[in-house]
Amino acid sequence: MILIEGLTKTYGDGPNRVEANRDVSLQINRGEFVVLAGPSGSGKTTLLNLIGGLDTATSGSISVNGIELSSLRANALSDFRRDHIGYVFQKSNLVSSLTVYENAVLQLRLQRRLTRAARDRTRRLLNDVGLGDKLQALPSQLSGGQQQRAAIIRAVTSGTDIVVADEPTASLDSKNADSVLELLRTMNDENGATIIVSSHDARVIAAARRVVHLVDGLVFSDTRASELLENLT
Ligand code: ADP
Ligand code: MG
Repeated sequence: MILIEGLTKTYGDGPNRVEANRDVSLQINRGEFVVLAGPSGSGKTTLLNLIGGLDTATSGSISVNGIELSSLRANALSDFRRDHIGYVFQKSNLVSSLTVYENAVLQLRLQRRLTRAARDRTRRLLNDVGLGDKLQALPSQLSGGQQQRAAIIRAVTSGTDIVVADEPTASLDSKNADSVLELLRTMNDENGATIIVSSHDARVIAAARRVVHLVDGLVFSDTRASELLENLT
């Protein structure tokens, strides 16, 4: 579970000061599929980076599975990231000099959890998402959508509890965006991964079970799909 209370992140000083996240409080339960929506500059990436331990808050608290992130030193924070967080970014998710398969097992290798079963599972999942004949290819030989699918497989096979995806469909055409979205949904349904996706893509927002809308760094609304349905009926 992710528990965020009074989280604030400020960049810069004086006239350059930007409050990228302001007094954000949220609880995200295990297995949820949450979309962070909001216009460009509303603080989505900042919040994902704080949840993922890529950055530290200015004030407030954020705890993930009972670990208070602000209390961690740099080494412990990087261990936290390796063990708990799978990242998917808009682009450049894969190491260009490694094959698709090597990329997919990279986090497992860092975790020293690359067992035979883990290798087999990764191959099977890559196969399931249509990358079975691309295992030995380099990322540059893949389309953007194929690269995103490989990055998602890496994020979920490494046994991390939480997949953080920052606008994962933003640079894809709609067919590839749909398949990436479907894969995230499947990983949420079948693997029980907690998935937090930032997006301003209407299709991603429509597929979410919960939408947290940010405006100017503030939580503007927080709506679950069940409530959306109730409002319609
Ligand atoms: P979004 O992902 O919703 O577009 P961001 O979290 O990237 O929003 O940015 C929120 C605000 O914080 C913006 O005004 C942005 O310019 C500012 N910001 C983000 N990162 C930095 C940084 N490293 N230094 C200074 N300002 C930043
Ligand atoms: Mg962003």
